[in-house]
Amino acid sequence: MQYTIAGRDDSDLTTWTAAELAEKIHAGEVSSVDATRAHLDRISGVDGDVHAFLHVGEDEALAAAEAVDRDIAAGTVASPLAGVPLALKDVFTTTDAPTTCASKMLEGYMSPYDATVTRKLREAGIPILGKTNMDEFAMGSSTENSAYGPTHNPWDLDRTAGGSGGGSSAALAAGMAPLAIGTDTGGSIRQPAALTATVGVKPTYGTVSRYGLVACASSLDQGGPTARTVLDTALLHEVIAGHDPHDATSSRRPVAPVVEAARQGASGDLSGVTVGVVRQLEKAEAFQPGVLDTYRDNLRQLQEQGAEIVEVDCPNFEHALSAYYLILPCEVSSNLARFDGMRYGARKGDDGSRSADEVMSLTRAEGFGPEVKRRIILGTYALSVGYYDAYYLQAQRVRNLIAQDFAAAFRTCDVLVSPTTPTTAFRLGEKVDDPLSMYMFDLCTLPLNLAGVCGMSVPGGLAGDTGLPTGLQIMGPAHGDDRLYRVGAAFEAGRAAAGA
Ligand code: GLN
Repeated sequence: MQYTIAGRDDSDLTTWTAAELAEKIHAGEVSSVDATRAHLDRISGVDGDVHAFLHVGEDEALAAAEAVDRDIAAGTVASPLAGVPLALKDVFTTTDAPTTCASKMLEGYMSPYDATVTRKLREAGIPILGKTNMDEFAMGSSTENSAYGPTHNPWDLDRTAGGSGGGSSAALAAGMAPLAIGTDTGGSIRQPAALTATVGVKPTYGTVSRYGLVACASSLDQGGPTARTVLDTALLHEVIAGHDPHDATSSRRPVAPVVEAARQGASGDLSGVTVGVVRQLEKAEAFQPGVLDTYRDNLRQLQEQGAEIVEVDCPNFEHALSAYYLILPCEVSSNLARFDGMRYGARKGDDGSRSADEVMSLTRAEGFGPEVKRRIILGTYALSVGYYDAYYLQAQRVRNLIAQDFAAAFRTCDVLVSPTTPTTAFRLGEKVDDPLSMYMFDLCTLPLNLAGVCGMSVPGGLAGDTGLPTGLQIMGPAHGDDRLYRVGAAFEAGRAAAGA
């Protein structure tokens, strides 16, 4: 069973791009209420099977859409995306909908404040359709760690839509939303984008506020835009990015001109652009043959569009996975300590018969799922006296070396590329009992988070062996997000011109 949208249909607003919707809404030819209602109807029709949403806020979305329509009638357009509805990953706080991070720990939790990303969306006149499914606290690669059941890939309901942001990407692929927000700590935006043939961007660390983004690993987490086209993704990028005094790690640099870059890239011309192929990110043994074949075709296409392709070595990437799975659990063990039923989290067993310690322990035992517990235990161990130097500090050294590999590569290349994922979407259930093979799935995406640089996954075409989507990962230097959009838009245009 497939729930992907079958191409552009004039009479079906759920098949339009966000840019098209915005244009017609701002011209008064389509109302935001109609656009929002069409997507809510689509959600009612297919989400019982896809399970992209944990919460749908029909009344709130329609009220926001009505407000936009009133503004437009009065001659005001709040932003280039005003009136276009969006799906928000359930890791950003919202005052009008629960924020659960797909955890029992936060079941029904209502935040007293909006995340900065939420606030920016509201100010831009973007109706929020609902909150999307994810792996619990953003830990996982398949949304199977959601306490509320997995998301199914609209391309094949027996398969994963990726993770942790599988809900956001599945919503896009199934036409339930033209825009969605994700977060990417080790690949959670790019990896689901690849598995669903959508576009996802992990912006440069520090360029999208983490205020109100429930922390997984603070030095790696980054919110970012997803959509079905590069231009739509760029339009959303400019809405959510920018300095925020509420986030101590927020960058003060001006936001890279990503919309301009996407428009420039649409010409398809890549002459003068040097694209580095990272040798370490196409290791044959880890990759499905069909993914590598499609990737080679993608490289040929970039070359035909005028790009110069060079090979680069990033030798320390080999240790990225090990470093990531030490640093991340260490930060998780610290960040998730506050969920004890006293400070945060749904308290369990507080019936007067237990001590505070027992209540906290029961709360954590019942509130967290197995993957979250695994990482808390691992992180606590790695940070303990005697192991700190051997594990955590060593991993931080590796992290520096990875950043140096990127810096060296960007001295000769404008962007780097690799496949986004080693295989196409795997079957639900296939990797749940094998955490290491689940971790391996983020092989190509997590080096970027360690280094704080930016990356995009853009649809690369269907793999010949499975007939399922692949993603081309484009990587840029810190604050070079516009390069992703220039090259991504050109590549997308090249594929369209080739009839793909
Ligand atoms: N799959 C990776 C992990 O489990 C990445 C998750 C993410 O980016 N949030 O940590």
